[in-house]
This record gives sequence, structure tokens and C-alpha cells, in this order.
Amino acid sequence: MTLDADWAERWVRRTAVAVADAKDELTELDRQIGDGDHGENMDRGFRAVVARLDDAAAQPAGADERTVGDVLKLVATTLMSTVGGASGPLYGTAYLRAAKVSGRPQIDPPAVVAVLEAALEGVSSRGKATVGEKTMVDAWQPAVDAAEAAARDGGSEVDVLRAAAEAADKAATATIPMVATKGRASYLGERSAGHEDPGARSTALVLGAALAAALS
Ligand code: ADP
Ligand code: MG
Ligand code: MG
Repeated sequence: MTLDADWAERWVRRTAVAVADAKDELTELDRQIGDGDHGENMDRGFRAVVARLDDAAAQPAGADERTVGDVLKLVATTLMSTVGGASGPLYGTAYLRAAKVSGRPQIDPPAVVAVLEAALEGVSSRGKATVGEKTMVDAWQPAVDAAEAAARDGGSEVDVLRAAAEAADKAATATIPMVATKGRASYLGERSAGHEDPGARSTALVLGAALAAALS
């Protein structure tokens, strides 16, 4: 499997479908510990991303080969301009940092790790959050760790993406007992325990879509 710009585009389009399918679930999670708009925010953002990809597809192709980073940068700028709330700038920064390390026509397993690391870096620096604060960092960090381990073991692109997606999925569930100390959920203090973090769940959807796009 070659992870090229077409894969990146499939990744993003699949993310849009996954987010639309899970819109009510994400909103319900955010209703428990936030302001009940995470599904709406993510859906609005990724719909706008798909619209821009469709526009780009209708244009004549440029002379230069499209890079993975070109696709991720389009996601970043679109999310930043269309998603209000915390998640817009957080995901926007994640995709922007990821784009900066993927300005190539295709990426190999170590480069996939670099992309995920850059995204994590973007979220944690923008949100000033570390592991254990019940935010999307709690899904991104285990995903990066698992991807790194898979790449170190000589795993393929698909192996690395599968490791990341599975780790993020488990990690999102593992946010349930945590007490939030960052973001809106932190206003609830101890009462934030017992609910899954919406951003950790949407991170698992994003990474699940990356794997699915590599398998299709
Ligand atoms: P808002 O809280 O502004 O309504 P969303 O509902 O779209 O924005 O996104 C909420 C999610 O954003 C949370 O579930 C959490 O994962 C993430 N989040 C919020 N604040 C931070 C932060 N400081 N660092 C990292 N992630 C954060
Ligand atoms: Mg919200
Ligand atoms: Mg909000």
C-alpha cells in the first residue's frame, strides 16, 4: 500500500463520512461533559473540507505532483476557518503540523509516525494539555506510541496505521473514568468522570479512517 496524496484524500473523505455517521454520538458525549456541539462542529468542518476537495478535483491538475501535505494543509485551513470552539484550532493545528512533515508525494512507515507525532505536538502545544487531562491528547499520545512501536518492529504502512487506530480506539474508551482538567469538561471537576471525552472519540474516528483509507 502506497500512502500518497490520493490516500490522504480518501482518508479525509472517510473521516467526513465517519464523523457524519457519529455526529449524534459525539454531540451526546459532549452534552454529558461539555456544551453539546462536538458532533455539529466536526461535521460542519469536514463537510467544508469535502466541498473544497470537490472544488479542487474539478480544477485542471497543476504541473507539480500533489503531496500528502497539500491535502492535510487544505484540511487544516478549512477546519480553522469553519469550526468554532476548541476543536477547530486544535485539529487545525494538528493537520497543519502534520502537513509540514509530509510535503512529499508519498510517505513510508517512519514518515507516518512523524505525521502522527506532529499532529500530537500540534494538539498538545495549542491546548497546553498533557496525558491524563481527559482530552483528545489522551487518544493521540497512545496512538503515536503504538505507531512508533509498530514502525520500530518493521511494520508496513498498514501495520503502523492499524496500531495507531486500535490504540486510539481503546484510549478513547479509557478516558471514561478520568477527571477533566482542561477544556470545558474541567468546569465539572469530579463530575466529568464516568463519560467518554468527545474529542478523544473523534480522534479515534480520524485514525480509524486513516487505516480504512489504506485498506481500500
Ligand atoms: P468546545 O469545547 O469549545 O465546545 P468541542 O466540543 O468541539 O469544542 O471540542 C471539545 C473537545 O476538545 C474535548 O472533548 C477535548 O477532547 C478537546 N479539548 C478541549 N480543550 C482542550 C485542550 N486544552 N487541549 C486538548 N484538547 C482539548
Ligand atoms: Mg463542545
Ligand atoms: Mg462549543
